[in-house]
Order: sequence, then C-alpha cells, then structure tokens
Amino acid sequence: MKTEPRAEPARAEPPKRAARKLKEQMVRGIAVAPGIAIGPIFDTTEVPADAPRRRITEDQAEAERQRLGEAAALSRKQLGKLKMRLSVLPEEAQEELAPLLDAYVLMLGNSRLLRGARRRIAEELVAAETAVLDESEGIAAVILAAKDDDKAGLLRRAQEVREIARRLTRNLLATPFRSLKDVPAGAILVADELTPADAALLDPSRIAGVATEEGGADGHTAIMLRALGIPSVVACHGLAESALRGDQAVLDGTQGFIVLRPGPAALERAKEGLAAFAKERAKLGKLRRLPAETTDGEQVELQANLEIPAELPLIAQAGAQGIGLLRTEFLFMNREDLPDEEAHLAAYGPIVEAMAPDEVTIRVLDWGGEKDMEALANGMEPTHGGPNPALGLRGLRLLLKRPELLEAQFAAILRVAERGKVRILLPLVTTPNEVKQARDIYERVARRLRRKGEKIPEKLPPLGVMIETPGAALAADAIALEADFFAIGTNDLAMYTLAVDRGDAEVAHLYDPLHPAVLRLVQFATEAALRMRMPVSVCGEMAGNPRLVPLLLGLGIRCLSMNASAIPRVKQAVRALDIDDCARFARRVMEQSDPARIQELVMGFANGLAEKVKG
Ligand code: PEP
Ligand code: MG
Repeated sequence: MKTEPRAEPARAEPPKRAARKLKEQMVRGIAVAPGIAIGPIFDTTEVPADAPRRRITEDQAEAERQRLGEAAALSRKQLGKLKMRLSVLPEEAQEELAPLLDAYVLMLGNSRLLRGARRRIAEELVAAETAVLDESEGIAAVILAAKDDDKAGLLRRAQEVREIARRLTRNLLATPFRSLKDVPAGAILVADELTPADAALLDPSRIAGVATEEGGADGHTAIMLRALGIPSVVACHGLAESALRGDQAVLDGTQGFIVLRPGPAALERAKEGLAAFAKERAKLGKLRRLPAETTDGEQVELQANLEIPAELPLIAQAGAQGIGLLRTEFLFMNREDLPDEEAHLAAYGPIVEAMAPDEVTIRVLDWGGEKDMEALANGMEPTHGGPNPALGLRGLRLLLKRPELLEAQFAAILRVAERGKVRILLPLVTTPNEVKQARDIYERVARRLRRKGEKIPEKLPPLGVMIETPGAALAADAIALEADFFAIGTNDLAMYTLAVDRGDAEVAHLYDPLHPAVLRLVQFATEAALRMRMPVSVCGEMAGNPRLVPLLLGLGIRCLSMNASAIPRVKQAVRALDIDDCARFARRVMEQSDPARIQELVMGFANGLAEKVKG
C-alpha cells in the first residue's frame, strides 16, 4: 500500500515564539538541586527527528486506533491543565494563548486530523504515530498551497496543525526524552515532565540545568537530579509555554526560579551567584576530613544515598561514612529485559569494594508509583500501575509476588557480601509478615548458594526494613521483632500520611514532612527501634536538609543518609549543635499540632544555627 510522502516542514517561527513579546520573564518553582546555570534553553517539545515510521498488520489496526484515542485524551487533559495555569502568565500572553489552546483542543476532537489519522491506520496499515505525522503534513501542505494573500496566516495555521500533531506523537511514543543526544552542551533543559528514568539518562557534564512544569520537591525525579548534581527547578507553572528554544536563561536551583531572556542586571546577579556558590563549595570541602561530632561529643553517622553508580566518586569526595541507601532501580531503568543475578553482581561488586570497610545498604527493587520501568511493565500487563499505582503492587509486595526478582537480588548481594560490608533493605513494608516471608526467601537463597559451594558469610548480612508508610510506623514495635534495622523513608511517609503525591506540582504546597502527623510517626518508629537497641536511620530527603537535622537528632536519630552533595552542609550543622539543645528543641516541636507553628519553630532554630555557623 502506498503512503503519501512527508512534506518538508516549512521553515518558520514556531507559533509560541510568534505569539510572544520577547522580554525578560521570571518563572518561580521549587528548588530541587542547588547551583546556578546560565545557558540557552533547550525545550523538549519537539518530536525526536528519528521518530520511527511503523507498519502494522490488519489485526493490529483496532489497537492502534485505540492508542490514538488514548493519546488524544491525554493531550486534551494536558491542554486543560495548561489552560488552568495560564493565570500565572502575563495578561497579554494569556490573551494570545487562551484561544490557541482552545483551537488545539478542538483539533483533538473529531477533527480532520484525527479522522484522517484513523483512516490511514485502517487503510494504509501504519502505526498511530506514523498516521498522525503523515496526516498533519498532508493538511499543512493543503493549507500552505491555498490561494490567500495572508501568507503569514497560512503558515501559522499550518504550524498549529503540526504543533498538535507533535503533542499527539509525543504522547503516543511516550518516550520524549530518549533522544537527548542533540542537546547542545551547556543548555538548560526545559520539559513538561521528566520521569526518573529520563533523568537518569541526562549527562551532567553537558546539561547545565533542568526546569520542569511538573514535579515535587521529594519526587524521584528531583532525587535523581540532585544525585546528578544538575541545578534544577521543578513545578515551574507556565514555563513550557514561555520558554523558547535557543533563548538565553538563568536558572537558580538554590532559590528555585528561572529567568527567561535575562537582562544585564539579572545576568550580572547570576554570575555573582555562580562565583559565590563555587566559593561556598570550596569552603565546605574543607570539612571532608573532620568528624561529624556535636559540640558535646556525640557522634553522628553521615551516609550517602546512591541512585546511579556514577555518583561513587562524589560519595567518596563528600566524606560519607558508607551508603545508607543504594536504590537499585537504576538497574531496571531504560531497558526492556530484566537484569539477572550476574547483572546485579556486576553492579554491586565495585560499589561494595570501593566503600569497604564502610557499609553499603542495598535496597532491593522498589518499583511502583512514578518509577515506571519498561522491563517490568512488559511482563506484568495485568497489574502494571493498577488503578492507583502508589497503593498497588509496589515495593516488597511486588517482590513477594514475583519472588524470582527478589531471589536474584538476594543471591547477588550475598555473593558480594564478603568483598565488603553489606546490609539489605526491604522497601514499602506494611506488615511483620511481609518481612518474615522475605526472610524465608533470603535464608532459602543462602542455603542454595552454600549447597553450590558459593562463598557467603557465615552470619548473613542484616535484613532491614524501610519505615515509609503510616502503617509500618505505627506497627514499628511488631515489625522491629522481625527486622535487623530500620531506615525511615520520610519521603513516602509524608506522601502516604498526608495523602499528597510527592511528585505532583498541583499539590506540592501540601507536601510537608514537618506536618505533626509525619513527625509523630518518625518519633514513634525511632523510639520503637531505640527500645530494642536496633539501628535506625533516616534516609528520606529530610536527612539532607541541615535545617531539619536538629529536630532529627533531638528525636534520637544518630544516622542520616542523604544525597552526597548535602553531606558537607549537614556536617557543618552537626558540628555546631549540642545534643541537649536538640532534645529540648524536639520536645517543644512535638508539643505542637499546628504545622505552621512547627515551621516557624524550625526556621527560628535554623536561623540561630546559621548565625552560629557563620560566626
Ligand atoms: C523514602 O520514601 O523516603 C525513601 C527514601 O525512598 P524513595 O525516595 O526511594 O521512595
Ligand atoms: Mg520510598
């Protein structure tokens, strides 16, 4: 069957550039990875140039039409959201954009574009994305060939069709960030949304900064960006519509804003900020060899969280006393098959050896929620996502359902255990019985390895539990009977306690680890562990915030695991604190039930501490 050749795209200004006055514009968001970037914008709203053309068979046509319908629905939803956020843009931009968005929504209804694409799927037997691109180019060519003196108007209409086709195609391909190879070095990446797997593909030596429309402070994408050390801001409402590819911008990942098309004053401030940031870093670097010890001699263990192996040198540089949370999800990202025992072994071995004699706490796969993974999704159609992924088959629940995944990880960890010091951590536990089941599998794997003559430690490495749901925190004393240690995950704990998605920009203002409900759960779980004389740490993002450290120490925590680059600042805070002061302060905070009052107290204490550190 014959397909129409794709018309050459006309070289014209994209509609959003034509529609906007090009002046300085600041968009505020949530600061997630510190540092300042100055560079040209690279927005990811383009469909990759190498978007594949695909043919299908007749019996696949119905499924393709369905995919197209779903992509159109998603595109309408995205545009609806954009429209809701228009109010944050300057009035003149709102006036220009609102009708444009309405036109886009119409094109996503029963329009010529969608009818034509559906016809192409059925008649030409091409995949939905191929049908959309071919149809949009066909329509654009007809528009451009029309006899009309208003050439600019024709061009604009043709571009609008192409723009909507691009949105549809991006949603159909669902892999908008796979082709970042052409990002110019030094660019600031602007995206609607970035998944943790997308972020893992970013090269920090090339990308100066990242700003996204979506996202929350402690979402996994934010965590990945911090790990990569790329200055980043998320939840920048209205950014994608205002940022134009190639424009100069300044991004401040410490304060949480991006200035598009900065004038000379904004540029000057950014340059000064860059110099101050470098100076501060050099000063903090000097703390590397000093102990994390309070003024009254209490030792605090500062460990690192690791998202990807490339962080290892940074962890050594930061002076971490081991890895308190090795998230193994990186091994499952951006691949279509599952890693086997040997792949796990190859990944963990070098890390365990490099960190020895310090311990490495390896958390077994925590898949679920926003951490989408093709390899797993492939084999799990019926449960993939589920009606509510955050409450579904994620974390340890998934591993107990697919024990072969857990067995491969346990076996690899046991095989590297003699090359250093390891501990194993179970994610998203809610009942003591889940821990028992995991331990049975762990011991079975150990017996099998011994039978095979593998060298594994006589005494098995400790098996610990993440306390990251209210259920686990409140059942901490029962879970403690089954566990060898606790690691408190304040990110999920805050999310599940407050019913606020940690990665959702719409509710980011409600995400508050200092909410008294969250703090009471942290306190309850910590005390349960301390009563049993069981090791307990905090490895959520709270641990890396120097302002929150006095409170955590006051609650009895003596081990904090965080993004490596946060260690120097946290050490600086620890070295200026007195444990009795922290305990008194924590008692005061825990008497409060108003989150705003707690914020006030914490900020007050932090400001006093900052003065002390300065002096
Ligand atoms: C947490 O939930 O606090 C945690 C440390 O785990 P993750 O961020 O990987 O969900
Ligand atoms: Mg978690």
